[in-house]
Amino acid sequence: MFHIPIDRNYSSPVYKQIYHWMKNEILQGGLEARTKLPSKRTLASSLGVSQNSVLSAYHQLIAEGYIYTKERSGYFVEPIQPIRPQKEQKELDAHLIEKPPKAYRYSFSHMGVEASLFPFQRWQYCEQKAIQKEGDILSDINHPQGIYKLREILASKIRHTRGVICEPEQIVIGASTQWLLQLFLLVNAEDQPFAMEEPGYHRLSALLKTMDHPVDHVPVDHLGMQVDKLRETQANIAIVTPSHQMPTGSIMPVSRRTELLHWSYEKENRYIIEDDYDSEFKYEGDMIPSLQSLDVNEKVIYIGSFSKSLLPDLRMSYMVLPLGLINGFKEKGLHFMQTTSVLTQLVLSQFLETGDYDKHIKRMSNYYKDLREKTIAALQDRFGSLTRVEGEKAGLHFLLHLDTEEAIERILERADRMDIELYSIQRFLHEPFRDASPTLIIGFAKLKPEEITEAVEELYRCCFPDS
Ligand SMILES: *Cc1c(COP(=O)(O)O)cnc(C)c1O
Repeated sequence: MFHIPIDRNYSSPVYKQIYHWMKNEILQGGLEARTKLPSKRTLASSLGVSQNSVLSAYHQLIAEGYIYTKERSGYFVEPIQPIRPQKEQKELDAHLIEKPPKAYRYSFSHMGVEASLFPFQRWQYCEQKAIQKEGDILSDINHPQGIYKLREILASKIRHTRGVICEPEQIVIGASTQWLLQLFLLVNAEDQPFAMEEPGYHRLSALLKTMDHPVDHVPVDHLGMQVDKLRETQANIAIVTPSHQMPTGSIMPVSRRTELLHWSYEKENRYIIEDDYDSEFKYEGDMIPSLQSLDVNEKVIYIGSFSKSLLPDLRMSYMVLPLGLINGFKEKGLHFMQTTSVLTQLVLSQFLETGDYDKHIKRMSNYYKDLREKTIAALQDRFGSLTRVEGEKAGLHFLLHLDTEEAIERILERADRMDIELYSIQRFLHEPFRDASPTLIIGFAKLKPEEITEAVEELYRCCFPDS
């Protein structure tokens, strides 16, 4: 008879204890195939438990296929190949154990926004409205490119704000710029070599590198990607940030834009991907229309995002495909499920329709403009002639060139020890340059106006510890 240890404190129900014991015995080979098990009455009385407990355990074992019954002859063990661990039980390596993200006292991150000014109440109102009006569609899987209504609103929005002319059918919504690029790659550019800006957005180069995709890194000057250098490469698809180069902050003038377009017009399979990630914030003069708006030959793939204009964790971005690429996309791309929540798409549609979006952008533009001026003034005050600001005319970050012998690594280490989030241009370089003077990325969106002086003072101490 089996000696099944029954815990009389009932840490788990008796039938489960019997079930677990038998299951383990069968899996580990302790109970051999076709062994006859005791009847429920015999086992129950030998364990001092109810027959119902044994019966429930047997039923569950039958349902999962560990045992079977033969009519009028009882219960038997199924023939199952025992499974045994091949190595000793391993634990998660210590370095893999996740710690809570570091709480910085000050953040100069280029990825953050000021979330406390986000109109959450209005967002919630829009959510209620959206559910009332269109919640029904949540009971099914919707269009892989995103819901039509949002694409319609987006098409009209970017026509007005960015000069992008497109139909909703050309828009693909997705959870990140990185994912949209991946989708584009899978569907439209399997074996096309890419060109990235150097320095450029490291998350996109990381993606291409991880996918073993051929990439040339083309240097940027103060006007953006250098087209004569681009011509020296094999690349057919160039990824650029003309509205506000990441990370140098330059705005590409029309001369460079047309030069780039000409490059793309020279070969049929050449395209330009325009990463228009923070164009909502432009501080001096009017908005500069997108590169896509200049293109007359359907050569630009426009990618926009709500990560900077609303919240990075909305995970809401979109790509506008040129007419010539839509057929190809429909053939292959529609097999990929939509990655952004349809509820979020509905709420965003409502948020755009009510004018809440425009209101928020207007408010944040003023707020960031002010913050940017205060930050630059504080930097000039404290650093004086030891520093030069570049790329500050748009967006949520600029560059700070430092006049110091100090190695950039030391500066960043010190910042980390002082709980300051800080990045340098090295992060955006494919081939980090060694001897150049340190250049920092100053994202100012997450600084609080009242903290700027103190944050800049601490930044100064990171850069010039001995003074
Ligand atoms: C923030 C940012 C984006 C937006 O990325 P998402 O994945 O859409 O959040 C794209 N490009 C650059 C250069 C950025 O800084």
